[in-house]
Amino acid sequence: MSTITIALTKGRILKETLPLLAKAGIEPIEDIYTSRKLVFATNRPDIQLLILRGVDVPTYVRFGSADIGISGKDILLEIDNSDFYEPLDLGIATCDLMTAAKKGSAVQTGRIRVATKYLKVAEQFYAEQGRQVDLIKLYGAMELAPILDLADEIVDIVDTGNTLKANGLEPREFICHVSSRVIVNRASMKTKHRAVTAIIDALREAITQ
Ligand code: AMP
Repeated sequence: MSTITIALTKGRILKETLPLLAKAGIEPIEDIYTSRKLVFATNRPDIQLLILRGVDVPTYVRFGSADIGISGKDILLEIDNSDFYEPLDLGIATCDLMTAAKKGSAVQTGRIRVATKYLKVAEQFYAEQGRQVDLIKLYGAMELAPILDLADEIVDIVDTGNTLKANGLEPREFICHVSSRVIVNRASMKTKHRAVTAIIDALREAITQ
């Protein structure tokens, strides 16, 4: 019996993934939230779970260190996803990628500066709009950039909009909807086909319950 390794994204996605995994019959045998471990055995002797930062999940799947991953679409849009399959939208941890600017500020014409973690998404979005931008890569706290005049706009994840509001910003343009996806290593899909498809089918069933 070969082991199936599933890489999970910690944080908000994990909170919504664990109940789905449980419905699919996969449960860690110890409490992920109180343990400092990164690898967890489950009630299924053939399945183990990795708890990773979102950006690292596709890397583990790409190199086959994990057979299956659960990743936010925002992460997947930024990388070359020809390396793995994306067979299932779990419809969890939903949010939107949007542009945002200082509340009440005039829409800038001409070349603008945009700060974001999502360079690929931003580049494509502004190009489609025919707008010229200088992109500034940030790794977090994008909301600060317009306030401190580092950028005119940001591209960021918006859920309730509270983070933008608390920082004197407002959402401007909708770019795309984001949810968490199941990704699968290409080789695992072949060599562990039966086990991998059984897990995908169980998750598909779990989201319709
Ligand atoms: P909100 O204040 O509800 O609009 O949430 C915005 C912030 O929460 C973002 O800046 C993200 O850092 C984080 N966030 C909300 N939803 C998600 C999600 N589905 N995936 C990743 N990060 C999220």
